[in-house]
Amino acid sequence: MAKLDEPLRNLLGAKTAKVLASGLELHTVGDLVHHYPRRYAQRGELTDLDGLVDGEHVTVMAEVTKVQGRTIPRSPGYLLEVTVSDGHGTLKLTFFGRKGAWRAEKELSPGVRGLFSGKVTTYRPRGGGRPQRQLTHPEFRVLPEEGSAGAAAREFAEEIIPIYPATKGLESWKIEECVQIVLDQLDLGPDPMPGPILRRHGLIGLGEALRGIHKPRDWGELERARRRLKWDEAFVLQIALAQRRKAASALPAKPRPRVRGGLLDAFDAALPFTLTEGQLQVGEEIAADLSGEHPMHRLLQGDVGAGKTVVALRAMLQVVDGGGQAALLAPTEVLAQQHYRSITAMLGPLAEAGRLGGADKATRVVLLTGSQGAKARRQALLEAASGEAGIVVGTHALLQEHVQFADLGLVVVDEQHRFGVEQRDALREKAAGGRPHVLVMTATPIPRTVAMTVFGDLETSTLSQLPSGRAEIKTFVVPPERPAFLARTWERIREEVAQGRQAYIVCPRIGAQEDEEDDAPTPPPGPDDEGRRAPVAVLDLLPRLEEELLTGLRIGVLHGKLPPDDKDAVMRRFAAGEIDVLLATTVVEVGVDVPNATVMVIMDADRFGVSQLHQLRGRVGRGSLPGLCLLVTDAEPGSRARQRLDAVASTTDGFALSRLDLEQRREGDVLGAAQAGRHSSLRLLTLLKDEELIRTARTEATALVEADPDLQGHAALAAELAVMLDEERAGFLEKA
Ligand code: ADP
Ligand code: MG
Repeated sequence: MAKLDEPLRNLLGAKTAKVLASGLELHTVGDLVHHYPRRYAQRGELTDLDGLVDGEHVTVMAEVTKVQGRTIPRSPGYLLEVTVSDGHGTLKLTFFGRKGAWRAEKELSPGVRGLFSGKVTTYRPRGGGRPQRQLTHPEFRVLPEEGSAGAAAREFAEEIIPIYPATKGLESWKIEECVQIVLDQLDLGPDPMPGPILRRHGLIGLGEALRGIHKPRDWGELERARRRLKWDEAFVLQIALAQRRKAASALPAKPRPRVRGGLLDAFDAALPFTLTEGQLQVGEEIAADLSGEHPMHRLLQGDVGAGKTVVALRAMLQVVDGGGQAALLAPTEVLAQQHYRSITAMLGPLAEAGRLGGADKATRVVLLTGSQGAKARRQALLEAASGEAGIVVGTHALLQEHVQFADLGLVVVDEQHRFGVEQRDALREKAAGGRPHVLVMTATPIPRTVAMTVFGDLETSTLSQLPSGRAEIKTFVVPPERPAFLARTWERIREEVAQGRQAYIVCPRIGAQEDEEDDAPTPPPGPDDEGRRAPVAVLDLLPRLEEELLTGLRIGVLHGKLPPDDKDAVMRRFAAGEIDVLLATTVVEVGVDVPNATVMVIMDADRFGVSQLHQLRGRVGRGSLPGLCLLVTDAEPGSRARQRLDAVASTTDGFALSRLDLEQRREGDVLGAAQAGRHSSLRLLTLLKDEELIRTARTEATALVEADPDLQGHAALAAELAVMLDEERAGFLEKA
């Protein structure tokens, strides 16, 4: 009998094991039994041949309709052409060789059904005949005919044939054979899932599930198998996350309960608007966490413009009132500067401790970035270390070792996706007397299940409503078939500027042989990008705007390659209204807040992701003035790119758009690079569709970890967890 960690060569022989290892990265019994079929075919249902894609390695089930052999002129060779059909479309199989030499000639005759496997190509006959899809020298397996030996009639008709992700040299049916050999000898040991959990959720045993997923006798059995295996994926992941939460919450932290009559009260009293119900409620959750003796670990999410910054600032003030300091980390210099400016502005006299005009209870806010001048930096470091600065705003530079805090009580991480766990840990080290509380803010709203997995070790707070009185943002696509719209676009900018408003123009690229590492990443080129022109670049568009399209307007340029001081200067001038049009890359994607800006033009908008576009347009319509977002594209109507843009234009619901965004990506991309490899522990589970299951698994996992944190009473489960953590090298867990 074979255990899961047994090398495949012991069961299948060195030759087959080698192909499985090199072609599919399958090394052990465990790897192979978790290599699930990609889909299932039923004998009655032939593969749709129209759906085949050139260049793909496919396995199709089809029926032979014609067999024709002919000699090749001036050559000793012989060509066998076999046509197979799915009932309407056809596919040609070609075999070259010597007459009478192949199995194909003996086994394939009209009426025979079989599985055919090979690479799809298209043959275009000279003289312009109809192009014909073909497989050259495919591997094949003839399916036994009804009534032939060994196939009982009923079983035969209903047999479900698994189709595996195959590789050259190892066809689907050979993988099926390997899997069956391994399953026959498999010794799973005790089921890793506790019996009561299986019973509560009506789940079948693991052995039964593995047999069911590979060779289901009927569709019901397949469904039960999938449910059990999905459960395992969700549950083991949630166990890991629950353990992390538990470990983190066991650490000591200094409680920072609310102090009446302090800075926070003064701030609230001076706020020029009323907090939304959501802001108040989330504020309460955070206030309660901060009062606790264990560190807060909370994710704050909400749509663009939902007002996350005020919520974070109120948390910071509560900590400052409690005698501690708060650090706010931003992913870029532009954002750090922006936060610094808006926090000082919101606090007003409350941020001017020790200065003329400062309020009594005032504190100080300092900015600390990697590129600031030595003098400013020294001053900032000093104020952080002495505790004079209640709030320290910065970039990654904050994480450097020589940055000292007098009493760091709270770390707010803005736009989480660019900070890893190591960086968060580095900051925690800086807190004396326990770990600081941590509040993470996401840039874009994320679906609940993604929050529960990708950010699963954090508690989640969601701001689901936008502040009232917020003007609406209208979004339009400026398409290639309507050139007049583009002319109108420039005109609209002029009109807004004439009314004293401002505009953004965003391009996917900087231009001039740049290396754009510093800018927010644009999505990698998709398959439809092939052979297209390079996207519009800031530095190429600038002269056209100045000389032709927007002559006379004051245009500022912002991109990641500018020296930090210049970036800051440009942003300041834009915020002060000294620049009419800000021509930029995606550095303006997050957080930038200039309420007087009313138009956002996005060039080559199809080059950006859905969430990114939503984030970008969130830069306008931030005040009481309505926002206008124009998505300029040359994507043709009906193309996938156009559909995405139309979706963005049709709704301002960030949660709906982020779902759409995620649906269009592979699961691996959702979870990050570490997940993209073959050995993803999430093979069947889809974050968007299996919400109910993930939620249930989370509840069960939390309860189990609560009762038995180290899984001492669940050895088999602990072993499965170890395998998963090892496989992922905790890759995406680390990301949170
Ligand atoms: P985001 O959630 O995108 O970070 P911000 O915190 O930047 O949003 O808030 C967007 C804008 O809305 C800011 O100008 C902020 O001052 C303003 N704002 C926040 N809360 C409210 C509110 N309750 N009423 C009115 N305006 C608000
Ligand atoms: Mg923000």
